[in-house]
Amino acid sequence: MAAALAEDPSLRVLVVEAGPWNRNPLVAVPKGFVRTMFDPRISLEYPALPAREPGPVDVWRRGRGVGGSTLINGTMYLRGESHLYDGLADHLGADWSWPAFGRAFDHLEAVLPVSAPPSEPSSEPPSEVLRALIAGLGETGVPLVPDVRAAVGPRVGRTPATIRGGMRRSAATLLRPGLRAGNLRVLTGQTTVRVLTAGDRAVGVETVLADGSRIRHHARRQVVLTAGTLETPSLLERSGIGDPDRLRHLGIDPVVSAPRVGEGLREQRGATVKARIRFGLGLNGRLGTTRGLLGAAAQYLVTRSGPLASGPYPLAASVDSTGGNRPDLQLLLTDISTDGTGLEPADHAGLMIQAYALSPYSTGSVHAANTDPCRPPHVRAPLLEDPRDRDAAARALKTARAALAAPALSGVVIDEELPGVSVAGGDDEAAAAFVRTSGGGIYHAVGTCAAGGPDAVVDEQLRVRGIDGLHVADLSVLPTHPSGGTAAVAMALGHLAGSRIREGR
Ligand SMILES: Cc1cc2nc3c(=O)[nH]c(=O)nc-3n(C[C@H](O)[C@H](O)[C@H](O)COP(=O)(O)OP(=O)(O)OC[C@H]3O[C@@H](n4cnc5c(N)ncnc54)[C@H](O)[C@@H]3O)c2cc1C
Repeated sequence: MAAALAEDPSLRVLVVEAGPWNRNPLVAVPKGFVRTMFDPRISLEYPALPAREPGPVDVWRRGRGVGGSTLINGTMYLRGESHLYDGLADHLGADWSWPAFGRAFDHLEAVLPVSAPPSEPSSEPPSEVLRALIAGLGETGVPLVPDVRAAVGPRVGRTPATIRGGMRRSAATLLRPGLRAGNLRVLTGQTTVRVLTAGDRAVGVETVLADGSRIRHHARRQVVLTAGTLETPSLLERSGIGDPDRLRHLGIDPVVSAPRVGEGLREQRGATVKARIRFGLGLNGRLGTTRGLLGAAAQYLVTRSGPLASGPYPLAASVDSTGGNRPDLQLLLTDISTDGTGLEPADHAGLMIQAYALSPYSTGSVHAANTDPCRPPHVRAPLLEDPRDRDAAARALKTARAALAAPALSGVVIDEELPGVSVAGGDDEAAAAFVRTSGGGIYHAVGTCAAGGPDAVVDEQLRVRGIDGLHVADLSVLPTHPSGGTAAVAMALGHLAGSRIREGR
């Protein structure tokens, strides 16, 4: 968003970021996220309690620093599904349709490198396990395509990733032209406490530094919030924009009554199917032993290639579980398996398929815990409360299992490790319970300041209702998910919002 604003040399853009410029060298290593996502300097934890019924407590994470979550994410760059963007445009208006997002993706990819065949023909050919997975999906009716970005409908292909030359490129890359031109400035280590208002207009922000001192930044034209789905609603609430009763309870004077602030949280709930595979196949031997890991590290250091140079799931598939042409499931597939629920490689050869419904219906909420901007908000996570989500979870599990059982994998797979015999095939209730209890939020939350409808927090131009000069331009404005990933979507949304604000729309 800031990069798009700064494309107009007559505008001066100030980015206020709570975290630092990243200094952890592991951030550049694509597989380094298994360590960096636990680095408290650039990653924050958000305990996510069940929204309604008793259930598991998740820990959600977000990146903190210039580049946000793209500093620690899996680098997967999934544009998404055209029919889901059509659904979004029903809420946000035709300006937010698939063709508009398509143009934004093209624009971004000219600055932010995205490795995807055919743009990176030199990338390593798929391993025997990945080839078998592709063939297995083909046998279940999901065709291989050269570039999953360029196609619609059911498809499988190499996962596009924000990697170039074996190194992660975060969203901070997008700021370079503005920084070079000199009309974009970034202030780090300043947490925005609240939006400053004069009458019914936003006029700036107040920030707090690590030593507790406070600074006021005045905005001549616009204040745009991009703190993300988990932080933007609390920031609005601290600014007096939210449900008046809730605000008074927190000791905040209401400025604008906006009861939907923080409500409508939707998250994709991923469940992983694991299989043991033939000894010697896949990456467990290379990344799960000290010797193998040293070899992979040496290969990476010398050639910037090998298993450390790619993201977590080399294959991405969009599947329509009803047999049609409108994918409702995302499958992410890899030729390594992890130990238990952690991120360490298992001590045996394995593969994993993460499967999830693209469009969850169940909702949760996020609200400020108090007036302290450094305290994590209260997150109430949806847990498949809506029966449509339980059905979709069962279909996701069934689809992943069908791929594993395809004849093309018979020479590769030994047996299913997870969920294994604990969930009998055909038992949809047990399958949904498995996803509910062993699955987790996958850091893709949207919806907490959603557009659409008479009581929406923002209008179709993403202006916060009831106050002038204030926009929200992050995933919190999306009422539903248009993709199986949110990184590409967040950047394209920011680009579209920034371009429109720049043009005075
Ligand atoms: C571990 C992990 C793995 C992921 N993997 C993938 C993946 O492979 N593919 C994919 O598509 N998606 C992935 N995602 C999700 C995706 O990266 C995010 O949805 C997306 O980057 C969110 O972008 P955003 O700009 O909306 O918010 P964020 O990335 O959360 O950025 C918000 C920024 O605002 C700052 N901020 C927050 N509050 C304040 C405040 N009060 N004052 C000042 N600054 C503030 C934060 O420090 C942060 O830098 C992953 C996310 C995580 C956490």
